[in-house]
Amino acid sequence: MADFAATVAGSLPKPFWLAEPNTLWAPWRTEGEELTRAKRDATILVVKLQEDAGIAIVSDGEQSRRHFVHGFLEFVDGIDFAHQVPMGIRNNRYTAMVPTVTGPVSLRGRVHADEARTARAHTRAKLKITMPGPMTIVDTIADRHYGDRTEMAMAFADLLNLEARALEADGVDTIQFDEPAFNVYMDAVKEWGIEALHRAIDGLSCTTAVHICYGYGIKANLEWKQSLGGKWTQYEAIFPALAESRIKQVSVEARNAKVPIELLALLKGKDVLLGCIDVGNETVETAEDVFRTIEQAAEFVPVERIFPCTNCGMAPMEWDLAWAKLTALGAGAALARERLG
Ligand code: ZN
Repeated sequence: MADFAATVAGSLPKPFWLAEPNTLWAPWRTEGEELTRAKRDATILVVKLQEDAGIAIVSDGEQSRRHFVHGFLEFVDGIDFAHQVPMGIRNNRYTAMVPTVTGPVSLRGRVHADEARTARAHTRAKLKITMPGPMTIVDTIADRHYGDRTEMAMAFADLLNLEARALEADGVDTIQFDEPAFNVYMDAVKEWGIEALHRAIDGLSCTTAVHICYGYGIKANLEWKQSLGGKWTQYEAIFPALAESRIKQVSVEARNAKVPIELLALLKGKDVLLGCIDVGNETVETAEDVFRTIEQAAEFVPVERIFPCTNCGMAPMEWDLAWAKLTALGAGAALARERLG
């Protein structure tokens, strides 16, 4: 029996009173204790709205962090945030100002306890929390200490593992690592990327997931996607390695993506968090659109392994648009239960 439990890739837009709308990495609207309260309120709100939209596995919507990588790094000692340096990101696709690792990294304390516990207290739905994956972290930070990417990735994996274990104890059902760097460094994925993920999930008994994708609709990503041609086959190189990994679920884009859908067959044995919602356009999918994507994937993935999802995070999206899309996602998942369940 397939229940097509719908979920989200991770981030959701923030309400206007928490951060500037329609902006990626938007500044907060308030500070101090008021900001703490605003983050909690926003977390509760997005959890409830996901339930209303028919999302079965809800996330905190990353309401408590500005950036999906730096939101974790802010809690790590051994990093100099004061002196940011320019670095070519994702194999020089674009340049960003990044902090520098200047000593052995260690966690200063809990990272996502507040939002995880807040969300847990207000929903009976399954709860997912996302964190950046080790490879994506080392691709988003400069190094003046380790001198070796693999060694630095493993050090971060250990910190992610500490937080992941604590999140599991908080009652989180799914812990997902975001690895947009995975389709850029395909050889490194096999050489050490999966190993680093294994280290990050060591000892967990909750569901584990990895999100890989071709990135947000920012200009550098759009130009890069143009350069990839009509068929994106990067996943051909990494899906077999992911299939052999101990990660349970893989989140990938499908709606309006140039990833050949038959490649999903290479994820044998994995749950597929199937991107049925395009986060890069303003057209609201219909429930039938969502169903069609599920139906196409069902040719290559056993139906009980399909979890309808968004292609990627929705953080920079307009609030009403995002909720309209998520409502379509929930409705499309219900159609799939009716027709394929
Ligand atoms: Zn993504």
